[in-house]
Amino acid sequence: MRLATFSHDGQLRLGVIDPAAGTLTDLSVAAPDLPGDMNAFIALGADGLAAAQKAVDSAGDEARLALDAVTLHAPNWPPLRDPFAVGRNYHEHAQEFHDSGFDATSGATAVPDHPIIFTKATTSVSGPFDPIPAHLDQTNTTDYEGELAVIIGPGGRGISKDNAFDHVYGYTVSNDVTARTLQHQHKQWTIGKGLDGYCPMGPAILTADEAGDAREMRLRTWVNGEERQDAKVADLIFDIPTLIETLSEGITLLPGDVILTGTPVGVGIGFEPPVFLKSGDVVKVTIDPIGTIENKVE
Ligand code: MG
Repeated sequence: MRLATFSHDGQLRLGVIDPAAGTLTDLSVAAPDLPGDMNAFIALGADGLAAAQKAVDSAGDEARLALDAVTLHAPNWPPLRDPFAVGRNYHEHAQEFHDSGFDATSGATAVPDHPIIFTKATTSVSGPFDPIPAHLDQTNTTDYEGELAVIIGPGGRGISKDNAFDHVYGYTVSNDVTARTLQHQHKQWTIGKGLDGYCPMGPAILTADEAGDAREMRLRTWVNGEERQDAKVADLIFDIPTLIETLSEGITLLPGDVILTGTPVGVGIGFEPPVFLKSGDVVKVTIDPIGTIENKVE
């Protein structure tokens, strides 16, 4: 199932997207008893999914909307809390970042011994087709990072690798947009990666039961139609079970938590000289089989 949060008639609602038909089933009409907040819906687990599926199967025309008639938000909008994210988690990207001069953290080696975990500010989260407000970066060094994001279902602490996928609710597409000079000069990444609108996500959560093996997913990023990134999720240095085990060791994960898993090689600072985003650029990230986000730089 492809679950989305959208606005229609000035109201925030949940929907189930049918990409082939270009439509969405409005759950506020088809299943009015279900929660209207994605994080509350995720907390219902399999029961919520079964109820939503039943509603989709029996929905009449009054519950279906054309996708181009609604505004899609980040799938679990409003965010529960800061999304978690992972730095330097693909081998070739770890090397390109290490070599770029913009990494103030790596020391002598490109590949980290342990996952590098940070968070992006709640207010950085934006919708799948929202503009990227790069004018907020006074250093004019804004860069893209196409990433697979994991959505947590059942929460918990002390989750082992063996059980990690039992806690994955689904997946979405994200762009860990980064102001490189701010990332470098402040050492920690909170400012450089946390600017407002620097975390577009969507267009939907593809639930784990339909997503197949995440390692087989293919991530591609284009800037103005030019392909910049093309990688398999299987190339992650620290895989999804390792990330969940590491994060949950002493932090309770909550239903609706988001983990951006890292970006592959091909970001703007990998070029010599670096190529940064500029006003008017369009960044598109596709992960098969989840979908596409596309964001214009402003
Ligand atoms: Mg990243």
